[in-house]
Amino acid sequence: MNRLTSKIPEKIMLKGLTLDELRTFFIEIGEPKFRGEQLFSWMYNNLSTDFDEMLNLSKGLRNKLKEQAELSSLFFVDSETSLETGTKKFIFKTREDHIIESVIIPEDKRSTLCISTQVGCPLDCQFCATGLMGYKKNLSAGEIFDQYLLAAKDYGKDKITNIVYMGMGEPLLNFDATVNSLMIFSENLTAGISSKKITLSTAGIAPKIVELAEMNLKVKLALSLHSCFEDIRTSIMPINKKYSLKENLDAVAYYAKKTDTKITFEYVMLKDINDREEDLEALIRLSRYIPSKINIIPFNSLKHMNPVGFSAELEPTPKHKIESFVQTLRDNDITVMVRFTQGDDIAAACGQLAVKY
Ligand code: SF4
Repeated sequence: MNRLTSKIPEKIMLKGLTLDELRTFFIEIGEPKFRGEQLFSWMYNNLSTDFDEMLNLSKGLRNKLKEQAELSSLFFVDSETSLETGTKKFIFKTREDHIIESVIIPEDKRSTLCISTQVGCPLDCQFCATGLMGYKKNLSAGEIFDQYLLAAKDYGKDKITNIVYMGMGEPLLNFDATVNSLMIFSENLTAGISSKKITLSTAGIAPKIVELAEMNLKVKLALSLHSCFEDIRTSIMPINKKYSLKENLDAVAYYAKKTDTKITFEYVMLKDINDREEDLEALIRLSRYIPSKINIIPFNSLKHMNPVGFSAELEPTPKHKIESFVQTLRDNDITVMVRFTQGDDIAAACGQLAVKY
């Protein structure tokens, strides 16, 4: 379907169109193409949600746009802030009344916005509450960008310094919308988040990682690793049956080389499953082979979700064991970040999004 002719419900949804698509839109409605740059700047830099704010467009053009087009694809529902950590969770609603969540995680001098790319998720990673919800739909590029817009309006545009595509859903299974949203962020006319401050996290869709590398968008890539062994990774992440660890490691090695960036390996610590001596040794070997850093994530219990099967058996690695695991990695000159739980009092920690709603 031509994105320029898709209408929600009967009007054209402008939010989510790239710069080239907006230029084409204006040519199609009989206006000069530079109007596309003006509208792009209003939507994605000024974060405007009202045509009447766009004073460098004539009143006649603004009225024409109001008749034919829409600007907002997502609506604010609620927000909660963790008293423990300052982590802020936003609850948004799509035009079809689907609920999605985004989270701002404040750390030292930066604040990272974690955004969603799908409603729910089809991948069923065994440690993840979002996966237990199942999959509802892909978000559009506009719905992905609007999470930033609404969070920035509330929290302060200048205070959001980084973005991670790590909320609900697998971004590379919603490839076109994800890429379009990244293209919007990568334009000079967009609000001050450079591509270098954006990280896309994937469970491992190897061919799409290679495709993304070819696009030269310069965003950073994180792979949800969670085990260096094929059989264990398959038991934790069923998608490993389709795209093996080996395929994914080849793909991320290619991505690192092509984009000249380091890969982040996400590693949720699961007691007696991936916190053994052999796991440590395998991680050290892997880190020598691919330019990377490791993000260690303590496991957030899923007991409140009444999980069944393998999910029900998962337990967190004790804190003292995580600390010694991390120390051994650091002793081997590996860069390690530990994300001790951020915001589990508001169900905003890793793998907890959209449970309550
Ligand atoms: S960890 Fe990510 S990819 Fe896996 S089920 Fe959860 S949201 Fe989906």
